[in-house]
Amino acid sequence: MYIYCCFKHIELAFEEIIEEFEKAPLLGKIETKNKLSTTCKYCDLPATYVVSNECTHTEY
Ligand SMILES: [Zn+2]
Repeated sequence: MYIYCCFKHIELAFEEIIEEFEKAPLLGKIETKNKLSTTCKYCDLPATYVVSNECTHTEY
């Protein structure tokens, strides 16, 4: 599970992952080249961060 979010909504994304999976989420930064097509889950700003529940390598 990946949640894309802007810098304002990192905490919301963290809470969502923690509630659903009951473990600490991972925070990653979205590469600039991918930014344009991705918007925050909680607002219309471009997503800058991706919060995931996966412990293995992240790909985005
Ligand atoms: Zn946002």
